[in-house]
Amino acid sequence: MVIGAGIAGATIAHELIERGQAVCIVDAAIAPATACSSHAYAIAHPHIGKGAPRLLRLTRIAFLLAEMRWGSIWNQHGIFVPSKSDQAFNRSAVIKHLRSLGLDDQTAKALDANEAGDQCGIKQSGVWLPRGASLDLSKAAQDLLRPHSLLHSRWLTRITRLEQCAAGWLLYNEEGKPLMSASKVVIAAAMDSKALAASIGVKLPLRPVRGQLSIFEISANDPWAERLPRVAISGEGYCLPALRLNDDTYRWIVGSSFDEGEDELQARDSSDEFNQEQAKGLLAYAQGNIDSLKKASSFVGVRCVAGDRLPIIGALSQRPGIFLATALGSRGVLWSALAAKLISAQVLDDDFVLLTRLGFAADLVAALAPARFFAGALATVPALGALASNSKPILPSSPIAR
Ligand SMILES: Cc1cc2nc3c(=O)[nH]c(=O)nc-3n(C[C@H](O)[C@H](O)[C@H](O)COP(=O)(O)OP(=O)(O)OC[C@H]3O[C@@H](n4cnc5c(N)ncnc54)[C@H](O)[C@@H]3O)c2cc1C
Repeated sequence: MVIGAGIAGATIAHELIERGQAVCIVDAAIAPATACSSHAYAIAHPHIGKGAPRLLRLTRIAFLLAEMRWGSIWNQHGIFVPSKSDQAFNRSAVIKHLRSLGLDDQTAKALDANEAGDQCGIKQSGVWLPRGASLDLSKAAQDLLRPHSLLHSRWLTRITRLEQCAAGWLLYNEEGKPLMSASKVVIAAAMDSKALAASIGVKLPLRPVRGQLSIFEISANDPWAERLPRVAISGEGYCLPALRLNDDTYRWIVGSSFDEGEDELQARDSSDEFNQEQAKGLLAYAQGNIDSLKKASSFVGVRCVAGDRLPIIGALSQRPGIFLATALGSRGVLWSALAAKLISAQVLDDDFVLLTRLGFAADLVAALAPARFFAGALATVPALGALASNSKPILPSSPIAR
């Protein structure tokens, strides 16, 4: 049983089906990907910042898994990561750092401003990630949940609580009626995972973070037009490659706001203004007139984020048969690909052959495990060991990973 048909639940369900398992997916909405995954603008690349070493290792592995997974809808356009504006470009230091992350020259290339101008049309120094891509999350989730003999879907069904029973776990609906039972239940319900986990006595430190992407239209005669990027840029905010719609106009997606603790889905002018400023920063175009970035539309979603900014993926060892895939934050593409492999391996009690080959180790299982928030949890190998009480959530002291 998988609760939630966003990109997380859809990817996990599909992986299990591919491995010959019968899956029932339940969602409160009428179709897949109606919530945070209802957009087409999700970029994916390995994280190349400094610090947060586990995040760096995890995103490299998750990126490789994501690249393998989505086939023809994986839109590889390359992503440029500009250097911080206050730092002089030091090619050998950047290359040394990239190699230390296990990223070779084919995956991550240090470019000075002239090279970046030639290669990407962006006159700033930085790192070029030619394999960087974007994914239409909505289409991906719908494709993953196409009719299949092993897939049973229940739409318009909100699960409000779980209860242990002889067969495993009973799922209750909004009328308080037991709906179905399963020996293994994957909770992939974004923020609602908190209430579902609470119903079985487990506290998760989840918070909403509202985000708004702006879809700008720009006249082809405007000074912005000759600066618009032909690749995606990921820095303070991100943008997709600008698309020429016709002779007169470009369309350019820029985001996004990061409104901590908020879950309002209404679009805001102030978020578009924020994105206009981010657009100037991404293109290092301080003198650009933001009035030329005319809002055509926007996407607003509510990300679900954990206290330490890493996703929560894995078996809830204190409640055998329950698995969590939530807190995907701003990395739905990467973490759903990783969650599918990790959770299916745990559900099927399998070894992590592929994951291990890619460098996934016990400390990374621990970094993602729900048990990391609970006092007395084994810090190392939750996949192998028993875990302690869930009474006292504690946050790890590692640096916050965005
Ligand atoms: C502005 C913005 C920009 C973003 N950009 C990127 C990006 O560039 N790259 C990237 O990788 N990610 C990006 N993300 C993040 C990405 O969109 C999310 O990480 C991802 O969509 C989360 O997927 P999910 O399946 O966990 O949650 P959701 O898509 O929210 O799915 C949860 C599902 O659970 C269902 N549900 C909830 N409660 C219940 C219940 N009680 N019973 C039954 N069903 C229930 C809901 O109906 C929903 O279908 C962005 C997000 C935002 C908001």
